Amino acid sequence: MRSYFKNWTDRLFKSRNGRRTLVALSLLTLLSLFSCTSRKSASKPPVDDRPVSAIPAPESIAIVGTPRIRVAVAKAASDLRVTVPPGGARMRYSGAGEGRALPGGLDLAISLRSTGLALNSENLGAPGELRIEASNPRELLLLDGKPLAPELRVLTGGAGMTVLAHLDLEVYLTGVLAGEVPYSRWGSEALKAQAVASRTYALYQMKQHRLDAYDVEATTADQVFRLGAQDEPVLRRAIEETYGLALTSGGRLFPAFFHSTCGGHTDSAAGVFPEQALVEPLKGAACPFCTESPSYRWQAELDRKTLRERLAAGGVNVGAITALIFEGGDTANGWPPRRTQVRIVHSSGETVLGANRFRLLAGAGQLKSVMFESVADSGSGFAVTGRGFGHGVGLCQYGSQGMAREGYRFQQILGLYYPGADLTKVYAETVAAR
Ligand SMILES: [Zn+2]
Repeated sequence: MRSYFKNWTDRLFKSRNGRRTLVALSLLTLLSLFSCTSRKSASKPPVDDRPVSAIPAPESIAIVGTPRIRVAVAKAASDLRVTVPPGGARMRYSGAGEGRALPGGLDLAISLRSTGLALNSENLGAPGELRIEASNPRELLLLDGKPLAPELRVLTGGAGMTVLAHLDLEVYLTGVLAGEVPYSRWGSEALKAQAVASRTYALYQMKQHRLDAYDVEATTADQVFRLGAQDEPVLRRAIEETYGLALTSGGRLFPAFFHSTCGGHTDSAAGVFPEQALVEPLKGAACPFCTESPSYRWQAELDRKTLRERLAAGGVNVGAITALIFEGGDTANGWPPRRTQVRIVHSSGETVLGANRFRLLAGAGQLKSVMFESVADSGSGFAVTGRGFGHGVGLCQYGSQGMAREGYRFQQILGLYYPGADLTKVYAETVAAR
């Protein structure tokens, strides 16, 4: 089903006049949407319900048709079960010959042996790449009983098998929405904002990794990808109504990072992802919208002995801990700073760790962010309070949902969390047209 938005933008894209109108409208809208959000104030912008507008992609990033993404869905695997969809499939091993037709419904047990890959007990030969492709590209091969992608590749080498799913980027995004947000209770505009952020992130990684074996991993290392709910109407709508839309800055894609809860102010990329320090939309913004998050404020109790053991497990050996001192961080925005380092005072001296390293070693589930507010000696350990959940850069997911609940549209949500970014139509072919 084509949305009003797509019809409207498609119509504009089809004529030169339309394109000029679109650019003019875009400039006006973008100026008004995105410029007002770069101020470091916590005031809420007015709701803007003008039609969505996007600028055409510059030639350097424009794509014809829907791109395919290569997702590493399993690493270091020793056994796999792949099921062929009803329409059948074709397999090839290490590019040899025409390959072999596989009938629909066939189960393939794939395992790694010292002599190479084995398929249903048949030895395929020296280690190589197994490629299995559904005959009908609309059908999905199943991995361990779950529908995954029309094409799978199994690579050998290193610590086991790496399984790559090659699939349409838009289908991949339904899996990312399912993996990243509670879509059944999230507002539709928050889902659309997440779809655009995730599409931007994926397109950026595809450009970065075009010479590598895959583009992204299916975990929090990139974006959590969980296929199985791709036919859910709310997910399909969020993807279709933002089809081909991504964010750019100065005509370039950038990694549109996101996190659960910022705690009041998103962070600049400079501290967390220093290689992106110059990306204007990742400089941080005030967020008055995530106060409903269960992680807006948190407290954690770090047991003295457990903390010492956890640090030791990470290769940091300290004596009996007497104090924790949180240091560094930008205090300019008037919010509790995201700390850059932790000084551990103990019986053998003092040890200084990067704040995020300390957080990961001590337990990232307890210490939800490095926006530490206070620390106190509780006798058996340390009582720590803080705000937010995650690295704090880019879109705040709970804030985005807070905005959606207050009636903001997705382009305003994106404008707040990626100030100065341009909403850009990177590819325009529609799902229905294929
Ligand atoms: Zn927030």
